[in-house]
Amino acid sequence: MGRAIRVSWAGGGGRGFGLNRNTLGAVVCSLGSRPGREKQGGERRVSPGAGGLGPAPEPHQPGSLKTESMERTERSTSGREMNGTMADTKTRSGSDELIFFVHGKKIVEKNADPEMTLLTYLRRKLGLTGTKLGCAEGGCGACTVMLSRFQTHTQQLLHYAVNACLAPLCSLHLVAVTTVEGIGSVARKLHPVQERIAKAHGSQCGFCTPGIVMSMYALLRNNPTPKMADMEEAFQGNLCRCTGYRPILEGYKTFTVNGGCCGSRGRENGCCMTNGNGVEKTSEEDVDETTALFSTTDFAPFDPTQEVIFPPELMSLSKGQRSHSLCFHGDRAMWLQPDTLEEFLRLKWKHPDARVVVGNTEVGIEVKFKNMVYPVILAPSFIPELNSVTHTEDGVVFGAACTLSHMGAVLRQTVETLPPHRTEVFLAVLEQLRWFAGQQIRNVAAVGGNIMTASPISDLNPVFMAAGCKLTLMDKDGSRVVQMDDSFFTGYRRTVLRPPEILVSIEIPYSQKTQFVSAFKQSPRREDDISIVTAAMSVTFTPGTNIVEDLRLSYGGMAATTVLAKRTANRLRGRCWGEELLQEACSTLAEEMTLDPSVPGGMVTYRRTLTLSLFYKFYLTVLQKLQQQGVNVEEVKSDCVSATELYHPQTPSSVQIYQAVPKGRSQDDVLGRPMMHLSAMKQATGEAVYCDDVPLYENELYLSLITSSKAHARIISVDTSAAERLPGVVCFVFADDIHGSNATGPVVYDESVLADGQVTCVGHIIGAVVADTQLHAQRAAKAVKIQYEELQPVVTIQEAIAAQSFYQPIRTIQKGDPEAGFKQADHVLE
Ligand code: FAD
Repeated sequence: MGRAIRVSWAGGGGRGFGLNRNTLGAVVCSLGSRPGREKQGGERRVSPGAGGLGPAPEPHQPGSLKTESMERTERSTSGREMNGTMADTKTRSGSDELIFFVHGKKIVEKNADPEMTLLTYLRRKLGLTGTKLGCAEGGCGACTVMLSRFQTHTQQLLHYAVNACLAPLCSLHLVAVTTVEGIGSVARKLHPVQERIAKAHGSQCGFCTPGIVMSMYALLRNNPTPKMADMEEAFQGNLCRCTGYRPILEGYKTFTVNGGCCGSRGRENGCCMTNGNGVEKTSEEDVDETTALFSTTDFAPFDPTQEVIFPPELMSLSKGQRSHSLCFHGDRAMWLQPDTLEEFLRLKWKHPDARVVVGNTEVGIEVKFKNMVYPVILAPSFIPELNSVTHTEDGVVFGAACTLSHMGAVLRQTVETLPPHRTEVFLAVLEQLRWFAGQQIRNVAAVGGNIMTASPISDLNPVFMAAGCKLTLMDKDGSRVVQMDDSFFTGYRRTVLRPPEILVSIEIPYSQKTQFVSAFKQSPRREDDISIVTAAMSVTFTPGTNIVEDLRLSYGGMAATTVLAKRTANRLRGRCWGEELLQEACSTLAEEMTLDPSVPGGMVTYRRTLTLSLFYKFYLTVLQKLQQQGVNVEEVKSDCVSATELYHPQTPSSVQIYQAVPKGRSQDDVLGRPMMHLSAMKQATGEAVYCDDVPLYENELYLSLITSSKAHARIISVDTSAAERLPGVVCFVFADDIHGSNATGPVVYDESVLADGQVTCVGHIIGAVVADTQLHAQRAAKAVKIQYEELQPVVTIQEAIAAQSFYQPIRTIQKGDPEAGFKQADHVLE
């Protein structure tokens, strides 16, 4: 069998924890040989060797685009990817044309597949492989591209960074897409954003570079003179795992107005900014050391007026657009994009199980990693009622499809115009948004999506619940308004909404004069991470006193739904805000906020403790605010004041000191000089070719790994029958299929290539599926059913001794007779 195979892992990774197994995927190999491996740009490549089949089809050059007419007629091998089946040249009956622009060129797609992401389309259909597939779940930012659309209701152009790996292709009607290839190239000219990251040594393996470039580019398109804080915010959703953030930020702070500096941290005698160009002055004694890794004089100036314009044709299409519904059919799913609320409600009534999709940041994960299939998708992005913002007497009403970025912008503006006592709830929402995912996610994720996902660790639902937000729900027969309280969430990821109902809007109320609101999120990592415990608290006092009139304490991460600590709140109502109340609150909360020892997520004691410590922070914060209002309360002790401060990181500053090249050394002698990575420019423009960017081979097959879901177990049976019935499956490979040795290992061959009867960790490779597309291989791998008999794990040293579980052979160093020595000793310490 001599067909080339690409390997990918079937499992999903933990969100927000960096690159997962998918990152390691993309190994091109040929069956029947054991070729040598080489490491390349963060991906492992196994060279095709002699086993590869025939000549490769003509690659699409990075940056080259097929035009409208080409799109209509041409289906290359890459068409397989597009539809998830072998080339399908026919327009699916009833599908509308999807019109969008990539780098100013119009694309009319007649076979838009509702399950296809923008990333797959860019990489496989257009050959634009500069945008990378990293984690595939919106967590690493390697796939960042910029979308631009003309908003008819505001008559404004909107540019925003998104994760192409989650962006549904069908959501791009009348959108302009800009990828890293569209802003500059080595042959043409690098964009300053590309040039500076390269020259500042901010690109090493380069896999994250295109994403970082595009996040910076999108920021500059919206704000040509950003502050350091804007830049940090723009990078919240971009991970770098080899270069390190210092050189990236060093290079990019040259775009900012308040550029940051070393803060005199690097050297005893001075700050890097005192010597021009951010270069630290070296003292007389330290002539051997230097800090200048690059010179800003080498950088091309940044001129925001020279940016690529929004396609004029798209502008007139958008302006002249008579809104009309869209429908796209795929193999497994249908995308319906109605243009009126009435039509939307009618469709939801007709398809009660349809998924409403806005940002796809939840649904996309479910489809990719949880094997979910949603035959009918309803997209409300054309519906004015779901996208509007209204200021009412009681608060601000956001349509359910408003993105989190938009909501944040509106709330920030409102906070600036209203008296502070009216904006306590808004500030709490803004504080949660600060730590909510990365900007690419917030730019597309909707507020309604967060509520309706009903995740127990949602960051916003606790605030909405503590603030008593009102939700408008609607079906084709009418609407109802419900308050977000503990009856709204009826179970794990369930709400009171009936199947034909949709969420139309949420009203976030103004706060009252004597009301204080706070929100907290505790997660393993500050930015772009899921919560361990999240909380929001609201207290209202009888005017002029510290007597609690109303109290709502809402927690996420403490049950299967967001919960209200009602018992505690009831006990504290009518009490004075002081030490006694604190004691009572802590003991009641400890009783009320319990967790089963086997609860998913673990960390039971930590989570329970957090509920109390977060309340303590709230207690002190409120005490301080009451004091500021002149209410007679205990003073916050000076050693506790820091607990009332919200954590906002300082602007990062850095300096790197290295040995200077002695004066007089030839400029051609590179030894000791900070030389730019030779491929950095290609990496920054997306032209560097990584393993997964290699054009597809004719008849190429894909291999997806079947991995263990148990930590320590005996494999009882492997059932491939369901997987065999799936389209595109070619064969399966298990330990029995290995003719030679199944043993492997770096020095000692004490591991198996494929698990043989027993697994010893989650992720242990049991076998593999070979199929015609990556998607088919992944789907089939997930459909393989494995029965396990769980075995007792050996975790501690004591357990290992008891089980006589030792690494063999046991090696000992012995001199003399220790037993006799101990017997003769006066004292024996054990
Ligand atoms: P979609 O995926 O489009 O839809 C989600 C669900 O809501 C679907 O079931 C859909 O049917 C339903 N729905 C949407 N709108 C309506 C409506 N109008 N009526 C009825 N049902 C509706 N969440 C956090 O709380 N905090 C985080 O820090 C966080 N970080 C994340 C990081 C990453 C990398 C990712 C991928 C997700 C993260 N999330 C986080 C989860 C997610 O981003 C949010 O829940 C988001 O608000 C969902 O919005 P969406 O528009 O993308 O939802």
